[in-house]
Amino acid sequence: MAARLFRGSLRWWGYRCALPSRPAARCSHSGGEERLESPSAKKLTDIGIRRIFSSEHDIFRESVRKFFQEEVIPYHTEWEKAGEVSRELWEKAGKQGLLGVNIAELHGGIGGDFYSAAVVWEEQAYSNCTGPGFSLHSDIVMPYIVNYGSEEQIKHFIPQMTSGKYIGAIAMTEPGAGSDLQGVRTNAKKDGSDWILNGSKVFITNGWLSDVVIVVAVTNREARSPAHGISLFLVESGMKGFIKGQKLQKMGLKAQDTAELFFEDVRLPASTLLGEENKGFYYLMQELPQERLLVAELAVSASEFMFEETRNYVKERKVFGKTVAHMQTVQHKLAELKTHICVTRAFVDSCLQLHEKKRLDSATASMAKYWASELQNRVAYDCVQLHGGWGYMWEYPIAKAYVDARVQPIYGGTNEIMKELIARDIVHDK
Ligand SMILES: Cc1cc2nc3c(=O)[nH]c(=O)nc-3n(C[C@H](O)[C@H](O)[C@H](O)COP(=O)(O)OP(=O)(O)OC[C@H]3O[C@@H](n4cnc5c(N)ncnc54)[C@H](O)[C@@H]3O)c2cc1C
Repeated sequence: MAARLFRGSLRWWGYRCALPSRPAARCSHSGGEERLESPSAKKLTDIGIRRIFSSEHDIFRESVRKFFQEEVIPYHTEWEKAGEVSRELWEKAGKQGLLGVNIAELHGGIGGDFYSAAVVWEEQAYSNCTGPGFSLHSDIVMPYIVNYGSEEQIKHFIPQMTSGKYIGAIAMTEPGAGSDLQGVRTNAKKDGSDWILNGSKVFITNGWLSDVVIVVAVTNREARSPAHGISLFLVESGMKGFIKGQKLQKMGLKAQDTAELFFEDVRLPASTLLGEENKGFYYLMQELPQERLLVAELAVSASEFMFEETRNYVKERKVFGKTVAHMQTVQHKLAELKTHICVTRAFVDSCLQLHEKKRLDSATASMAKYWASELQNRVAYDCVQLHGGWGYMWEYPIAKAYVDARVQPIYGGTNEIMKELIARDIVHDK
């Protein structure tokens, strides 16, 4: 694990663990070490379980858990009302080493392994706080810049994004084009060496707070297919003609600043083009499996959180002189939920392993996203039901978990599109 990742952990742990003075360059999973898998663990959210992780990840997880407990949970209700989290939180997360965890140190990231990034996703899901758009910033936006950006772009953006001083977003979706990205109308036209950007985007996570947005735009209308005429641009907040619209009022993700963005004759210097001209669609296809795996990971982690929350509730709540958990039908429901969650966890963990080895293909990532996000919604439904009327009350975490679950089968490519990608893989020979 890279030095900065450890420094963040150590700050929280007060050096109470005997850590090597020189941390390993990266955290790999523990191989032969005996670790419980989720089904045998006392709680699905326990620290120290699952063989994909090592004791180094556990130390990091402790610190991340503490961060969410102390810096996020107490303020989240306030942020839900505001429709955004504070910028201060982003900088605190940066100082703690929680942003750009899986970005190489030489590029200005933390230099942790992919599993360490997953620890941050999981701990956010276990906190039941969906406001901070950390994972999109760190594990969707930053990889585009590192993988396709010029040296200057990497130098300019990555260290600032790792510190939380710059917040990233990615703008693909438009009012008329979501699933069908080839229908994008936002366009950039050449003017000398500059580009002039016009159009609008909608539903953009981190859109309101964003300092840099990767914008998907048509750059060649005459291309042999729309996919061959799309490019990506790094558009910065404050550029003339770049206007942020309303923070959108959503069913869930109340503290997440999802926004509309407008581009009116925004003059973009050639240096804002990300990667090569007209290669944007190819870059999107390369990066989308990680986005889908992220949704799957968040979905199964949220399911684990909801299960534990509900297990606690039914063991406390009394009906007919006994606890709800005393009823056999309730016990069977819990058995069913736990089985479904653990089976899904095994598949998602294997996808994390494949992705860490750069072997996760698009169809498998789509399966994980589709399956885990549908499971999350079934778990949310059943867990609210097990809470009775209290499950419908906002003050109960399960109510928030229920509305937050609903978007997961929609974004990152809808689950219908996931099935399309899986089906294509089945019927067409590879
Ligand atoms: C909270 C939130 C955050 C988001 N964040 C971002 C972001 O940061 N950046 C970004 O670019 N976008 C973001 N999105 C947009 C999201 O990715 C799109 O909403 C999603 O891709 C679906 O597009 P659409 O809404 O236009 O639906 P449509 O494409 O209009 O789909 C409508 C329905 O038709 C179905 N459908 C479409 N095509 C097919 C097909 N071929 N076969 C079968 N059924 C089909 C869909 O599955 C869906 O059920 C976000 C959305 C939400 C709600």
